[in-house]
Amino acid sequence: MSEKFDVIVIGSGPGGYVAAIRAAQLGLKTACVEKWVNKDGKTVNGGTCLNVGCIPSKALLDSSWKYHEAKDDFDIHGIEAKVKIDVKKMIGRKDDIVKKLTGGVAGLFMANKVTSIEGTGKLLAGKKVEVTDHNGKSTTYEAENIILASGSVPVNIPPAPVDNKIIVDSTGALEFTQVPKRLGVIGAGVIGLELGSVWNRLGSDVVVLEALDSFLAIMDQQIAKESQKIFKKQGLDIRLSCRVTGTEVKGKEVVVTYQDKDGKEHQETFDKLIVCVGRRPYTEGLLSEDAGVKLDERGFIYVNDLCMTSAPGVWAVGDVVRGPMLAHKASEEGVVVAERIAGQKPMMNYDVIPNVIYTHPEIAAVGRTEEQVKADGEPYNVGVFPFAASGRAMAANDTHGMVKIIAHAETDRVLGAHIVGPSAADLVQQVAIAMEFGSSAEDIGMTVFGHPTLSEAVKEAALAANGHAIHIANRKKRK
Ligand SMILES: Cc1cc2nc3c(=O)[nH]c(=O)nc-3n(C[C@H](O)[C@H](O)[C@H](O)COP(=O)(O)OP(=O)(O)OC[C@H]3O[C@@H](n4cnc5c(N)ncnc54)[C@H](O)[C@@H]3O)c2cc1C
Repeated sequence: MSEKFDVIVIGSGPGGYVAAIRAAQLGLKTACVEKWVNKDGKTVNGGTCLNVGCIPSKALLDSSWKYHEAKDDFDIHGIEAKVKIDVKKMIGRKDDIVKKLTGGVAGLFMANKVTSIEGTGKLLAGKKVEVTDHNGKSTTYEAENIILASGSVPVNIPPAPVDNKIIVDSTGALEFTQVPKRLGVIGAGVIGLELGSVWNRLGSDVVVLEALDSFLAIMDQQIAKESQKIFKKQGLDIRLSCRVTGTEVKGKEVVVTYQDKDGKEHQETFDKLIVCVGRRPYTEGLLSEDAGVKLDERGFIYVNDLCMTSAPGVWAVGDVVRGPMLAHKASEEGVVVAERIAGQKPMMNYDVIPNVIYTHPEIAAVGRTEEQVKADGEPYNVGVFPFAASGRAMAANDTHGMVKIIAHAETDRVLGAHIVGPSAADLVQQVAIAMEFGSSAEDIGMTVFGHPTLSEAVKEAALAANGHAIHIANRKKRK
């Protein structure tokens, strides 16, 4: 038996690496096991988020947006520009950012004295972890506490098997070396919209096929409808109620067969097809049969509100457990678990987790949607402020969308904020802080906001919830 630790974390995505750093900060002897091997054969930390998720997708979203602006939007500012895109360079920039950040995690591990263990970790009974390195050599470690943070992987669907050439998943869509002329996307969720937007801005004709009959079904529907209109104008061809039933790769293209809501069959031919129909928890090879960790009916590791699994001393965080599959949710759970292990008593507030789609404009939400508040039978007021009425948005030529704030009709407590518009991701965070402090809409409305800022739209929407907005005609209050 080799070394014993206070904490062993399996997985170094945003759930695992943050948990490991926090545990080490609290004086616990900590190790983190990671199996991810890069193209160059080296083990890297950072998981999905840093390697093939949040960061590389945002790098491409930012590059492609700049290209689009220079090509199509500079003119209105009186700027003439001749632009062309070098896709290989754009992908190279993305790869450099990933390298810097994953290397940064390794640096943070060193600075905090977290032991990095390379290889595949398997939880054994009795709080032991067997790690098999890339040469097949196994070593067993022991720990007082073990945190499972093995994350998630893309869901595959039988009618569209990924071949990593023409039919790809989200990872493959971050690696195209040229702009596909015709691009199909299966799934109009967060990832489908983000990746579809990247290649649409660069010149692809994008068709998004979505099996559900409503767009962004889990978002506030007023915001979802507004977003759908904006995407249509941008040229994203989003087809709802369209279920893909088959694909056939023919040479350098793929023929996709799908059924519409009436069961009528259609075919489309694409140069590339991205399958992004969701992600599933990843537990392959993670648990020995006698480890004592139970999975739920959907394959997630079963945990209670404190992220404790059914095995004493074994915790689980991030995408591999219930709740939204988001990097910041994973990280926050990692912090909470590390602090619990160290004897502190933090709680995770699952009611205030922002959710963002990084299209342009961005779509961001926190708290409950109007549909949810209505279904809960609570009386509420809604305040909406359109960016078309924002001086700052006008100055930036970025006036699409709105801020919507929902407040309880009796207590005025903010129940949710839903934004589609410029910098929505950052704006929603202001309301998240307010909600964390149990703020009322009036509290936000009474706060002095800098002028001219996009943030003023948040203040005005909060004022509008009580019929006091200054820069728009107030809507009738709703219950
Ligand atoms: C294209 C894309 C864009 C995204 N954009 C965003 C975004 O903008 N914002 C956001 O919040 N979220 C985003 N996400 C989701 C986000 O990436 C995940 O929610 C987040 O990475 C989950 O973190 P995690 O630590 O739970 O798991 P992961 O990041 O999946 O990390 C798990 C790690 O565990 C390792 N591992 C698994 N099993 C073992 C084992 N047995 N032994 C050793 N190591 C193991 C894996 O190799 C991996 O490194 C995006 C995802 C994708 C695919």
